[in-house]
Amino acid sequence: MAAPLAIGIDIGGTRVRAALVDRSGALHARHETLTAAQAGPQAVVTQIADLVAIVTSGVSQEQLVGAGVCCPGPLDTTRGYALGVPTLAEFIDIPIAEMIAEALGMPLRLENDGVAAAHGEWRFGAGRGHDNLVYVTVSTGVGGGVVTDGRLLHGRKGMAGHVGHMVIAPDGERCSCGARGCWEAYASGTAFARRIAARSGYAGPAAVFAAAGAGEAVALDLVAQQADYLGIGISSLLHLYSPDVVVLGGGVANGLGLMVTAIRTRIEANAMPAFRDVPVVPAGLGENAGLVGAAALMF
Ligand SMILES: [Zn+2]
Repeated sequence: MAAPLAIGIDIGGTRVRAALVDRSGALHARHETLTAAQAGPQAVVTQIADLVAIVTSGVSQEQLVGAGVCCPGPLDTTRGYALGVPTLAEFIDIPIAEMIAEALGMPLRLENDGVAAAHGEWRFGAGRGHDNLVYVTVSTGVGGGVVTDGRLLHGRKGMAGHVGHMVIAPDGERCSCGARGCWEAYASGTAFARRIAARSGYAGPAAVFAAAGAGEAVALDLVAQQADYLGIGISSLLHLYSPDVVVLGGGVANGLGLMVTAIRTRIEANAMPAFRDVPVVPAGLGENAGLVGAAALMF
């Protein structure tokens, strides 16, 4: 019999992706489309069913072990509910896991996207071989997931690892969650882009990283400040979880090579000596971490 395969589904605010993944984490087929983010849950479920039909074309039903689905939180993964996803219209108190399982007709597991990506990086990416890791994704927001003592941390309702909403500045910048001073409000790609627009003519983070690489002073300063904000949150995560490694994913992690010195300087300043020697490394699976991590939940 052919080797078993799992379906990975990643519902993002911008793109929804599906892939066929084997036990070793390798992708056998992958397809994506722009998310019908404003059209409501049923439209997104239809998009998922269409993507799954494409990636499973020619694969026998017996070969498929099920589908792992990840989605931005907060989700109650113990009940399979979306509780109120800011980037997806009407994803409020709906049984999203049941809706997708019905459309696909197969066993399914739902996971918060940061937790799924942490799982992917732990099993197949930059965290492989470690029993303790913190995964942080820095893009539109700041998300994450934690592996501790060789187990994926879920917490109450499966919501552990929402690292972007730890407060680093009382009464600070307004966060997308409504609170003030969250790490996300300073360290996200959105916050970085806002500072870039206020201080320079660069188009966004990618342009600033390119200019910093060429030694331009304003760009270097913007990158150093962004790295410092990342270092502040990472220092707290070192104290909280004592990971073997911190894995950084998301678009802003593309500039890690330019930021790592300033991140380490902040860790030296903020972390107690015993916590300072933990490596901060780029994600190994890139934008597929959630897809692969969600699929791997089915094995
Ligand atoms: Zn927040």
